[in-house]
Amino acid sequence: MAETIQVISPLDERVLKTYPITEREEITQKMATARLAASIWSGYSVEKRVGLLSQLKAIILSDCDAITEVIMSVTGKVKTEVLLGEIYPVLELLRYYEKNAARILAPCRLATSPLAFPTASAQFERRPFGVVAIISPWNFPFQLTLSPLLTAIFSGNATIFKTSEFSIPVGELILQLFNRIPLPEGLVQQVIGLGETGGQLIDGRPDLVFFTGGVITGRAIMANAAQHPIPVILELGGKDAMLVFDDANLERACNAAMYGAFSSSGQVCVATERLYVQETCYPKFVKMLQDAVNKLIVGHGPEGDLGALTSLDQYTIVEAHYHDAIAKGAKASSSLQLNGRYLKPVVLWDVTHDMRVMREETFGALLPVMVFNSEEEAFRLANDSEFGLNASVWSADIEKAERVARQLQVGNWAVNDVIKNIGHAALPFGGVKNSGFGRYHGAEGLRNFTCTVSGLTSRSQLNEEPNWFPYSDQRYKEMHGFIDFIFGDGTLWQRTTRNWLELQVFRGYAQSNARQHWENFMIKLFRRRDY
Ligand code: NAD
Repeated sequence: MAETIQVISPLDERVLKTYPITEREEITQKMATARLAASIWSGYSVEKRVGLLSQLKAIILSDCDAITEVIMSVTGKVKTEVLLGEIYPVLELLRYYEKNAARILAPCRLATSPLAFPTASAQFERRPFGVVAIISPWNFPFQLTLSPLLTAIFSGNATIFKTSEFSIPVGELILQLFNRIPLPEGLVQQVIGLGETGGQLIDGRPDLVFFTGGVITGRAIMANAAQHPIPVILELGGKDAMLVFDDANLERACNAAMYGAFSSSGQVCVATERLYVQETCYPKFVKMLQDAVNKLIVGHGPEGDLGALTSLDQYTIVEAHYHDAIAKGAKASSSLQLNGRYLKPVVLWDVTHDMRVMREETFGALLPVMVFNSEEEAFRLANDSEFGLNASVWSADIEKAERVARQLQVGNWAVNDVIKNIGHAALPFGGVKNSGFGRYHGAEGLRNFTCTVSGLTSRSQLNEEPNWFPYSDQRYKEMHGFIDFIFGDGTLWQRTTRNWLELQVFRGYAQSNARQHWENFMIKLFRRRDY
């Protein structure tokens, strides 16, 4: 009998369902079905794919409350958090691809140099990889499975996904949503299991692996994918900095810090995990944070801000970071209080970079606060981290804030806002340093799920080209002249006259050139700017 996984709701510890773990042979079968689906799906025009996938928007909207219930029961989040953090970004991405996928994925014809490629036309197209494996974490199981999944299928791939073992019902829900659209059979499939099953999925040799999760798992996935070898996109953890200058709207910044650090109980990859405040407003701002954190409501009542912890394992890390900080001299807004799975959020101040809470990902409701003096010190402290996912800069002086943001070693930043930038569907999202590599969202994200195939077509009638054999000293002289004519100093007239003799070898081209010149001119005239 197959091994099973029991999924328990963090809301009330009830067993939601028991699932059989997908066995290796089943993964092989799923891969074969996915390959077949990919070959059918990639044959559809982008417009046809968009037409079919657009139906998902209406399905999600009509089932919004039911979807919210499932995600709440699996993650322990409060319902507004589910709506804004899980459902809204998916709808936004759907709308963006609906409007833009055909343009972003369109094949492109390019102008060619009239001298180097006089009778040639150049083009490239974006072909789907084939089958994309998506491995997702437990903190945003709907968004972080569906966003890469949609990106993969909009660009013509089939997908097999594995949610976290804590979030399997959300994967089941995703399958049910897709079952309501007439897609090729096996275009979207799920495998169920722990890390080992994720490894087997990669051993099944998909054509691309998109992984969201912790850095240690990310390394294991990359090492596994390297055996085959399969390209990977890694969206890993973060230790996001928030820099507050004294000219910022402090009330807004304080409320943002509460949201940035404590939404989804801090179990957010782009959570505010380090807060740096300018010395001139530090005491006042710390006081504001203390008042604000005490007003937050933990629980699932009509006014709850923070829900339950999805995984109690995470609490062990939160606890360790808290006690380490206190032992090294940090001050806290309260003691650490866990009631069942409900954790009271804590602000820690007077922290230093020697504390674990400032160096390691906490992924929980702790907000450590530290002082800075100058603009230079602000970004130096923010960059003193092995992570580089997201960050925010707060100031009334937008020019200064953007100047600081541009110095940050991160994949994404926001000025005078927090977390929200990940929800902008046109902005490519991803990390640097230990936060991973590769981007999704936006045009770049969609294209990253395709491989670019380029082509060059010659219409030359010549029996031999000047760059072909036979080589000789004379040919060397001619080519030297050709290079000087194209790249050398001086006006066109000067370059032509000094290389006139050498250029005679190209005369044979002249007859076949006229048509190509015209075509190149037209391509240049209408060429799209984004290529
Ligand atoms: P995790 O790394 O433990 O697990 C993620 C997924 O990988 C799960 O589905 C898990 O079953 C699978 N997995 C585990 N070992 C595997 C292996 N050897 N081979 C293949 N698959 C394997 O992460 P988590 O605890 O579920 O999520 C929390 C982490 O995710 C945090 O570090 C957080 O910062 C990160 N995260 C990053 C982003 C981002 O966009 N950068 C977003 C959300 C979460």
